Amino acid sequence: PHRGLKEGVKVTRLAPSPTGFIHLGNLYSAFVDERLAHQSGGIFFLRIEDTDDKRFVEGAVETIVGSLDYFGIEFDEGASVEGESGEYGPYHQSRMAELYQACVKQLVQQGHAYPCFLTEEELSEIRAKQEAEKQNPGIYGRWAVSRSLSYEEIEEKLKQGVPYVVRLKSSGKTDVPAEEMDTITVSDAIRGEITMPANNMDIVILKATGIPTYHFAHVVDDHYMRTTHVVRGEEWLSSLPVHIELFGLMGWQPPVYCHTAHLMKIGEEGTKRKLSKRKDPELSLDYYRRDGYYPPAVREY
Ligand code: GLU
Repeated sequence: PHRGLKEGVKVTRLAPSPTGFIHLGNLYSAFVDERLAHQSGGIFFLRIEDTDDKRFVEGAVETIVGSLDYFGIEFDEGASVEGESGEYGPYHQSRMAELYQACVKQLVQQGHAYPCFLTEEELSEIRAKQEAEKQNPGIYGRWAVSRSLSYEEIEEKLKQGVPYVVRLKSSGKTDVPAEEMDTITVSDAIRGEITMPANNMDIVILKATGIPTYHFAHVVDDHYMRTTHVVRGEEWLSSLPVHIELFGLMGWQPPVYCHTAHLMKIGEEGTKRKLSKRKDPELSLDYYRRDGYYPPAVREY
């Protein structure tokens, strides 16, 4: 259900992957989320993006909640140390497989997604050919061979248990000169109006395990959890056209995107660079705790 909030009230979320490492960038992002929500009388929730079980670290939720709490940031709903609270759960992506699959089914039924049976070897061959022909890498246009399988061929492969992923059948033009590509214009709350080439890649939305990729999970979650503002790092800007296409195909209104800048420092060579986990101990939130920095000072910083 809609949250029934007054006009202008914002719903934000922090959506970390439970890798066990929580850093200054997470605090920065969480702070923006928290202020946007609470200054408008809205809601700030925690969602755990644990679709990549290889990266899962035991106790990661405790670390996230504990570190942010130390710096005065609290969630109103979502994943927590005691379990989950709120009406818009589950707040762990790993517990929402059926919801994602139902949404993928809708796209397949409408002809906007299809099962792709390409094997790892075939994908490497395609990549090598694309490199040799100086073509963009990825599955699109003539490379998207599973697009043309008949219903009977698909049924046969499914019966034989051939593994498959589900890909988006992108409606973006392929094999046209750059100036003929479709474009999209999105109004980012931080960056203003951005015009980018529309997506034309048949990206994977559901992996062979039946678990969605970030792209699809984010769209489904932020729609059903009624997020109004998505604050995330600029590394996601390049996949924005995919997300906009997915929202459109599902028939949903996208949230307001707020792409933040990377935290940078002046490095040893005197040039600006991204803070690095390996080189900069001050990227880890633990650092400030251990060294006894006064939490409100870190917030202000
Ligand atoms: N799980 C993603 C990350 O940790 C979240 C990005 C987002 O906020 O949508 O980078």
